[in-house]
Amino acid sequence: MIVYTYKTIPYQDSSKLVYAYSESGLISFLARGVMKMSHPLSFAAEPHRLLDVTVSKGTLPTLKEATLLNRYEAAKKDLKKTMIHHLIGETLQKNSAPEDDHFKLLGLLKKVFDKIETEDKPLKYGVLFLLKLLYFLGFGLHLKQCASCPVSAELGFDIYALETQCKAHGSTPEKRRNHALITSYLTAEVSEDLIQDLPDEMVFLEMIGRLYETHLDFQSKALKETLRYLKKEIV
Ligand SMILES: [Zn+2]
Repeated sequence: MIVYTYKTIPYQDSSKLVYAYSESGLISFLARGVMKMSHPLSFAAEPHRLLDVTVSKGTLPTLKEATLLNRYEAAKKDLKKTMIHHLIGETLQKNSAPEDDHFKLLGLLKKVFDKIETEDKPLKYGVLFLLKLLYFLGFGLHLKQCASCPVSAELGFDIYALETQCKAHGSTPEKRRNHALITSYLTAEVSEDLIQDLPDEMVFLEMIGRLYETHLDFQSKALKETLRYLKKEIV
């Protein structure tokens, strides 16, 4: 089973509880004894790793075997990249439901994290993932028509009101640029050529935060930390 570990906590003397996202959704398993020196499976009980694992059956499965598929080396050395891992892990933990298409979501997650490893502007891939995730979870942004009338031409997206607007209902050139950008992010494959740069990373992450809070009653600690970091970076 392929899993992405997003959190690990010490358990009893020398074990760890591992929380992960898999192609069947959120799972947790016990990694026995991995905090002992040179335990052969200790690599599998660390957060932000992609693994192929075998676990036992039961209410609290135990880790039996593990193969390391990716340790996301670049993300470990780069605070911004680490934050995206936190952000995506926390978002999945709080929002993914058993009925979601986890196979597809895990595929998207792998592509995004691969891309983030080599990107010098990684945050836009975080934004891409979170926007697409919102769609996966069933919350469309209604980008194809003005929120106040049936007009579907020259639409803009107001990133504060979180709604699509036509010219008569408030769309401006800037809002039209944002509409085009969000549309392109939602339809983009995870490929550099298709994704335009975000004009302002912080504003877009704040927008994502409001979208999640509006639709999902979601207060993200990781999102707040990322925004705080970005503010410091800008000053
Ligand atoms: Zn309108």
